Amino acid sequence: MEFTITAEQQQLVEMVEDFARREVAPLTREMDENQTFLPPEVWRKMADLNLLASYVPEEYGGLGLKAMDILLTRQAWARGGGCLGSLLSWGASDGIGTVGILKHGTEAQKRKYLPGIISGEKISCFALTEPDSGSDAFKMRSRAVKQGDHYVLNGTKMFITNGPFCDMGIVLAITDPSKGVLGVSAFIFEKDFPGFSRGKKLDKMGMRSSPTSELIFEDCIIPEENLLGGEGMGALVANTTLHWERTGMGFAIGAMEYNLKLCQEYAAQRIQFGEPIGNFQSVRHRLAEMKIDIEAAKYLFYRMAWLVDTDQIPALLDISVGKAFLSKALLRNADAAISTFGGYGVCTEYPVQRSYRDAKIIEIGGGTYDIQLNMIGAALMGPRQKTKK
Ligand SMILES: Cc1cc2nc3c(=O)[nH]c(=O)nc-3n(C[C@H](O)[C@H](O)[C@H](O)COP(=O)(O)OP(=O)(O)OC[C@H]3O[C@@H](n4cnc5c(N)ncnc54)[C@H](O)[C@@H]3O)c2cc1C
Repeated sequence: MEFTITAEQQQLVEMVEDFARREVAPLTREMDENQTFLPPEVWRKMADLNLLASYVPEEYGGLGLKAMDILLTRQAWARGGGCLGSLLSWGASDGIGTVGILKHGTEAQKRKYLPGIISGEKISCFALTEPDSGSDAFKMRSRAVKQGDHYVLNGTKMFITNGPFCDMGIVLAITDPSKGVLGVSAFIFEKDFPGFSRGKKLDKMGMRSSPTSELIFEDCIIPEENLLGGEGMGALVANTTLHWERTGMGFAIGAMEYNLKLCQEYAAQRIQFGEPIGNFQSVRHRLAEMKIDIEAAKYLFYRMAWLVDTDQIPALLDISVGKAFLSKALLRNADAAISTFGGYGVCTEYPVQRSYRDAKIIEIGGGTYDIQLNMIGAALMGPRQKTKK
């Protein structure tokens, strides 16, 4: 395994960290309070810096960057103080709302939709979850029926990141109820398709700078050319997307690094009993544990990126181990940061409290912690065995 960071990667990382520090960190408190995403001018600047969907090959307008480049730059964003919510929405547009088109789309779909996402003109999303099907995602109720040259889609999607303002997205619906998972199909929708509307914006405790809502499809007309990957290929599109989401969640390591840096600075200047609290062993040990989690998470996620970049698809086991570890490490990190700041740690003036609220959502989104453990358990023990009575 080779994890050496190249000079180009280092340059990219410094540019993104600096951008996040200057342009995003000063906005994060307001975004959190008002539950708003990045202002359009910041999004435009990100597009100008080629930060959107830069993994897409050059023939479709991207830079063809590697998984490790993407991981390092998004980690740098969080380390520079760019909030996790902005990363979640960024990734919902150019990651989970895009990768299905790149991997399973027709040439025409790629040429029609990818350039707009890369230029920042279009914000995308990925709509799988429904009010009654979350972990059991393929038990969805949404139905798409073919009528002539289009599909008529009916259903409601829940918890959709970027739902309140997406211009387009990928939506999953059942096309053949007799086939179970193989009867699920994926479609590309646009906000102006007749029958599409947005439900209420959800008022969340964390990831508040990543607006979330229901999406409603009521006799929504989807042209047949917007079927993604062919009928019955929805589960494949969804699994490609979920693998992408989970391997990409390493961006959150940057948030742990940001918290550690804040704690180091605070512990050096906060005086109690006549000396900096950073002199006390309990505080030092807390920071040491934060560092251990950061380094362990880096190893897991850098390895996954390395596997992707060397055309060795990470195994489900690797992905679930990484996602499960990261989500608990983030919570430990945020908890330690609040403890280090004492009473100030729970005040909105300091960002460490936000990191705790945001961390909880990493544990839920993209497959809960329990589901990751189920997958690790299945890899270790095989399917559940039924005993005869
Ligand atoms: C902020 C946010 C953004 C999101 N963004 C998106 C998005 O952009 N697109 C999208 O499609 N979805 C999105 N989701 C949905 C997310 O993927 C689901 O919330 C998640 O998969 C869990 O589903 P659920 O909330 O319905 O919980 P449930 O599935 O109802 O789970 C409830 C509890 O039961 C446990 N549980 C369920 N089944 C099992 C089992 N078999 N074994 C053990 N425990 C189990 C769970 O771990 C959990 O603790 C988002 C969610 C949030 C909170």
